[in-house]
Amino acid sequence: MLQTPIRIRQNKHMVCCDDFQNLVDQEFAQVHPKHLLSGGRILNDIDTDYFFVFGADRPSFVGMNYCPFCGRVVSRGLWNLEKKK
Ligand SMILES: [Zn+2]
Repeated sequence: MLQTPIRIRQNKHMVCCDDFQNLVDQEFAQVHPKHLLSGGRILNDIDTDYFFVFGADRPSFVGMNYCPFCGRVVSRGLWNLEKKK
């Protein structure tokens, strides 16, 4: 199955930083609503749209609480905690 290399970057405005966007461009990560992820399994239970992607054919998704590059909070659980401070 061939996929078109041209992708619509409709999520670009949502990504926290260029380093993370770089990972998304290389398909090592995805920014996607959790309930819309398909074709793989989610390995942890963080309420986030930010996922690492491991494996191409049947990918495993690992949600993250923080961006590893800019350190911004990217999960709803931590957003809610920060709001209470
Ligand atoms: Zn970032």
